[in-house]
Amino acid sequence: MTPEEALELARSAGIHRLRIPTPFAVGRVNCYLIEDRPLTLVDTGPNSGKSLDELERQLSGLGHSLEQIELVILTHQHIDHLGLVEVIAGRSGADVAAIDVVAPFVENFGEDIEADDRFAAGLMLSHGIPEDVVIALRSVSRSFRAWGARAKVTRPLRDGEELAMQERTLEVQHRPGHSPSDTLFWDSEREILIAADHLIAHISSNPLISRPLDGSTDRPKALMTYMQSMRRTRELPARIVLPGHGEPITDHRSLIDERLELHRRRAEKILHLIEERPRTAYEIAQELWGNVAVTQAFLTLSEVIGHVDVLDAEGQVREVANGDLIRFETVG
Ligand SMILES: [Zn+2]
Repeated sequence: MTPEEALELARSAGIHRLRIPTPFAVGRVNCYLIEDRPLTLVDTGPNSGKSLDELERQLSGLGHSLEQIELVILTHQHIDHLGLVEVIAGRSGADVAAIDVVAPFVENFGEDIEADDRFAAGLMLSHGIPEDVVIALRSVSRSFRAWGARAKVTRPLRDGEELAMQERTLEVQHRPGHSPSDTLFWDSEREILIAADHLIAHISSNPLISRPLDGSTDRPKALMTYMQSMRRTRELPARIVLPGHGEPITDHRSLIDERLELHRRRAEKILHLIEERPRTAYEIAQELWGNVAVTQAFLTLSEVIGHVDVLDAEGQVREVANGDLIRFETVG
């Protein structure tokens, strides 16, 4: 099946892809309109006039207006996906559905982001990223905040619950990893999976380290969580997977196998670097990605730490703290 055929299959199930512009490097974000009762919009695009114009234009091309939306479903907590939620819920009176664990984050958006920034800054400093880089990244992250928004989650969803519409039932599946709130919506009758950024065809989703939603201060093991989530998704007999960016996925099992293999090779590379001598996560990121380790410091740090967690769980590597600075060394 080609991506075009997959989109056609989705359309025949009443699911329309809306490609909404974002100011971010990732490019456009996919929102999905589900023509059912309630009339449902999955994700919103970022909070900008341009994105709103484009959303309204594409809705009207399908014969709908923003005011007619009855339910907004949020797939996860990232601003390119939820930024317009306040505007849409305000104008349409739509219910807002999101996995229960993320409801406080969405409802207090802005305040929590401050705590997220502090969490990220502490993590970056303890893993060897220079202070000036950390300060620069914090100001970038502050300027991004305006693309988000807060909203009352009127329909909190539980993992495993069934979201019933007039013509279909979507099973809610919490699959954290890319973010702590990633949620999939599975139509088992049509074998269609709405997966947002859990699985993207043209880019390997980053298992970003996020501050835990439950208030715990332990560093989450984002990559291990993500790999576990992908293995569960692999079990689903999906004909098509509708992602948060880019084209539909028609063979999710081989894509997941590729991703798991990529992570295995990267973990091996990192193990070799640590075998040469103990290193900080930042030093490892510089070896692997050069200057990108500076411009995308948090992303590459998340990636390195994720792999070190895997090596640690296998008993190959351990963390050694020297004052506030953490290095990794081999075991034995
Ligand atoms: Zn995204």
